[in-house]
Amino acid sequence: MRPDLFEAPDYYNLDELLSEEHKLVRDAARQWVKRDISPIIEEYAQKAEFPKQIVKGLAEIGAFGPYIPENYGGAGLDQISYGLIMQEIERGDSGVRSTASVQSSLVMYPIFAYGTEEQRVKYLPKLASGEFMGCFGLTEPDHGSNPGGMVTNFKDKGDHYLLNGAKLWISNSPFADIAIVWAKNEEGRIHGLIIERGMEGFSTPETHGKWSLRASATGELIFDNVKVPKENLLVGKSGLGAPLGCLDSARYGIAWGAIGAAMDCYDTALRYAKERIQFGKPIAATQLQQKKLAEMITEITKAQLLAFRLGQLKNEGRATSAQISMAKRNNVDMAIKIAREARQVLGGMGITGEYSIMRHMMNLESVITYEGTHDIHLLITGLDITGHAAF
Ligand SMILES: Cc1cc2nc3c(=O)[nH]c(=O)nc-3n(C[C@H](O)[C@H](O)[C@H](O)COP(=O)(O)OP(=O)(O)OC[C@H]3O[C@@H](n4cnc5c(N)ncnc54)[C@H](O)[C@@H]3O)c2cc1C
Repeated sequence: MRPDLFEAPDYYNLDELLSEEHKLVRDAARQWVKRDISPIIEEYAQKAEFPKQIVKGLAEIGAFGPYIPENYGGAGLDQISYGLIMQEIERGDSGVRSTASVQSSLVMYPIFAYGTEEQRVKYLPKLASGEFMGCFGLTEPDHGSNPGGMVTNFKDKGDHYLLNGAKLWISNSPFADIAIVWAKNEEGRIHGLIIERGMEGFSTPETHGKWSLRASATGELIFDNVKVPKENLLVGKSGLGAPLGCLDSARYGIAWGAIGAAMDCYDTALRYAKERIQFGKPIAATQLQQKKLAEMITEITKAQLLAFRLGQLKNEGRATSAQISMAKRNNVDMAIKIAREARQVLGGMGITGEYSIMRHMMNLESVITYEGTHDIHLLITGLDITGHAAF
């Protein structure tokens, strides 16, 4: 892969709205991606392997629990810093950002928000440092967009719970030390359980053959009469709202992350268009390529403003799930369209691993599907504005 020459576009001087802390956090993540991700990520994506050596660096830049308080090992940052970290990581690779999102929003967040003090103390510092890696099991083979239909269940056996069922498409599952698993009790109510690797009857087979998020490990979670200690139940919240609360946090991070992928595609395409000579002039001097590039920067700028305002609302505790859905849907769609256009600007070179664009484009096919599909987020907006559920 070529040297990383990335220069971040900031067409509307958004930097002026950021605090010194925001910029410090963002720049540290940006430097880390240039140094530790860009030189290796193409190779790991090609061989479909998660680069485990980056875990320590992710912890150091505050990507594991950016908004979790420092006394639990988190970085104690605000929501805009969290978003900026996700943006920078996804500028490198959506798979790496997925690993950080899962760890922060889908594993640390539920333990922090719904766990007991003992669970917080036991797990959060180790998750923040990367000593423990976690995964989040909601989706099942027959229940994706409709997780409320899940069949994974647990029964009260007096001194323990007995867990049975299976989860599919679980990021980080093949190497996770713990899993936050959503399952129904005997009354059919959804609860979260902390499952540890090594529990008898618990296995995590890897899913192979993905064309997308190849540098992120994905797998199953299988529970065959797993005995779960009662102290591993997340007691603070139950019902579908509990996992959906985690998804709100992760989807917010994705709304920022997708901007990173789009910025990288735009920046690469702009540089290439200025350098590539055809018909005796740079292709950047042609109207057709200018149209692509001008539309890209316009869409990126709109997405940046959407994410920034959402971050302000989130900092004030006022961001609604529907607002988060709108930003996730819009920004991922924006990024995938930019990746497709940017790839064309590079002609044949666009399909190679010399440049990051094709990898971003394939990664974004997962990002537009997970954490609520493009369709489902539209239906959430539809429900919010009409009052009618059309799922
Ligand atoms: C790489 C990757 C990583 C993932 N990581 C995780 C993870 O860590 N943890 C986890 O729990 N899950 C994870 N997922 C699962 C992901 O969240 C689901 O794939 C997603 O929710 C969609 O579910 P599904 O694939 O079963 O598709 P389905 O729900 O079967 O949907 C198929 C199609 O039908 C559409 N559709 C569904 N219902 C309706 C409706 N009512 N009206 C109109 N259209 C509809 C959808 O939009 C979609 O286009 C991951 C997925 C991928 C691909």
